[in-house]
Amino acid sequence: MLEENAIVLMQNFIQRHKKEVHLALDLTLGRGKDSKFILETYPESRVLAFDIQEEALDWVRENLKKQDRLQTILDGHQNLDSYLDQEVDLVVMNLGYLPGGDKTIITKAATTVMAIEKALESLKLGGLFTLLVYRSHPGAAEEVATVEECIRSLDQKDYRVQRIEFYNQKNQPPVFFAIEKRKKK
Ligand code: SAM
Repeated sequence: MLEENAIVLMQNFIQRHKKEVHLALDLTLGRGKDSKFILETYPESRVLAFDIQEEALDWVRENLKKQDRLQTILDGHQNLDSYLDQEVDLVVMNLGYLPGGDKTIITKAATTVMAIEKALESLKLGGLFTLLVYRSHPGAAEEVATVEECIRSLDQKDYRVQRIEFYNQKNQPPVFFAIEKRKKK
């Protein structure tokens, strides 16, 4: 049975990861749905979540229940290493603009790739990175090309990568990437 959309697909990957998740990164907090999903799926987890918009952090503070394991950070994900002193088990990143917010404030190629590289560096061996790349909004094309190039260049000895898309969906549906940091043999 195939998933109905890319979000469900991402959630299924997170759910079936099933390894212990102590610390997760949500690189694009937005309305907090992905952070919430991780916190509910992994009751032992703590999530560090980044967004550059105060609107996102305020919204999450007001609308998300049970935030004791969620730390929100008003800063760009490209600076994530300033907030980390340990490895992480799981990373989620959903590119684009804040749903229901200002559509001109979007994730950008250079900072997105910087964040991907730093997050992969911080990921434990066996850890999972899920990435959802939206393609239809203005400004997306450059980011898509840069992100694809970055991910394609990951050494297969170090990372296992899957790319999945809803191939016959209209209007440029998002592309989903799952990246697993491989254990050394
Ligand atoms: N995960 C979110 C959710 O569950 O609602 C959706 C994320 S939304 C598609 C993308 C978010 O990335 C926006 O809220 C935007 O403000 C944020 N963003 C843009 N540039 C960023 C950056 N450099 N660092 C962190 N967040 C950024």
